Amino acid sequence: MGLLIQHGEIVTAERRLRGDIRCREGRIVEIGDGLEPATGEEQIDASELLVFPGGVDPHVHMELPVAGTVSSDDFETGTAAGLAGGTTTIIDFVHPGRGEDFLEALETRKREASKAVADYGLHMAVTWWGDETRGWIERCVREEGVSSFKIYMAYLATVGLDEEDLARVLETTAKLDAQVLVHAEMGEEIEELSDRYFAEGKIEPVWHARSRPPRAEGEANVRIAEMAGRLGANLYVVHVTCRQAVEAIAAAKSRGQRLWGETCPQYLLLDESVYELPDFEGATYVIAPPIRAKEHQEVLWKALETGTLQAVGTDHCPFNFKGQKELGREDFRSIPGGAAGVENRLALLYTHGVVGGRFDIHKFVDLVSTRPAKLFGLYPRKGAVEVGADADLVLWDREATGTISAATHHHHCDRSIYEGFEVTGLPATVIAGGEIRYDVGE
Ligand code: MN
Repeated sequence: MGLLIQHGEIVTAERRLRGDIRCREGRIVEIGDGLEPATGEEQIDASELLVFPGGVDPHVHMELPVAGTVSSDDFETGTAAGLAGGTTTIIDFVHPGRGEDFLEALETRKREASKAVADYGLHMAVTWWGDETRGWIERCVREEGVSSFKIYMAYLATVGLDEEDLARVLETTAKLDAQVLVHAEMGEEIEELSDRYFAEGKIEPVWHARSRPPRAEGEANVRIAEMAGRLGANLYVVHVTCRQAVEAIAAAKSRGQRLWGETCPQYLLLDESVYELPDFEGATYVIAPPIRAKEHQEVLWKALETGTLQAVGTDHCPFNFKGQKELGREDFRSIPGGAAGVENRLALLYTHGVVGGRFDIHKFVDLVSTRPAKLFGLYPRKGAVEVGADADLVLWDREATGTISAATHHHHCDRSIYEGFEVTGLPATVIAGGEIRYDVGE
């Protein structure tokens, strides 16, 4: 019964100590130095390993319908891939159809999510505004434990809202002190540009990127931050990709707004040259917002270092090249947008952030676990190594090296946007709910 992790170097967002952690019935029940094994207790020697709280990925999309197809990881394969990479909790989304009851959409999504093999949460996307929407948002918070809401400034035809409705959401959530996640890109400008390029015969993946310029993201950030400030709403900007957006967020924060920003490994590590790959391979990298010019990477790293951005999610939303990305061979607008990443987030951030000398291990833990847990109401059950917290722990091997590849990853996807990327630092063992859920290689 139970599990004793011995002699590990325990690191959290704030502190470091060497010691033992006793887990029982899914929780951490004791932390100390020289804890004696109890009868029947399984022991793990962590003396060569770091021990930190399981990753919390605040932004993933398992089995999400997009452009006539469905993202290729379901909740089972996607959460399994997360576990293999040290992420023990994901937060996905409910996307009610236009006219659909939010509470019914939530029940449908919970049934899909019941396949998950790790813990999950759900953000509610406010995809349309009607007479009942305000009441549904209130019920989500008060009765359903859903306290974060996603709004889209792009994709106006399906999930995006106009400024009037965006304001209604911000006003409603401000009264509830709920969190609002925003996809900040100017939808109208993007749709005009992409339709014009297509009409001019520009059909290749690179035109996806060119129709979504950084200025459209910067402008959206300026506008939504202004609205959130005026209405007193909390705001979390997902997948920040560029200098223009970082500047808008920094300005709003300097005005004292409750505003947070997330970026993703793909924006820190890839640049727009991926869209020039031959044989339609650029489609693999079609995500929104798109991968930017290299100059933006340094701005994003700096923003993480200084705290202008506080979290790293993945926007994990995989599509196979074969049969899915290929749907857009004749029209970049039909390429399903999204890529796999939930398994790779910790290794990439550790390699390029900690080993790369940009920030220390405490900042790393904060970015991938503690801060997302705090921002979405999961802390200290998640994101903490404390007595009473869930026993979700990563035993991390600093010396382990690996090469990311679609041939070996656990994502249900035939491509990796990190193909050939080498990492230093990988999970040796991942514990969730007090049980060993992943051991190196398995
Ligand atoms: Mn997303």
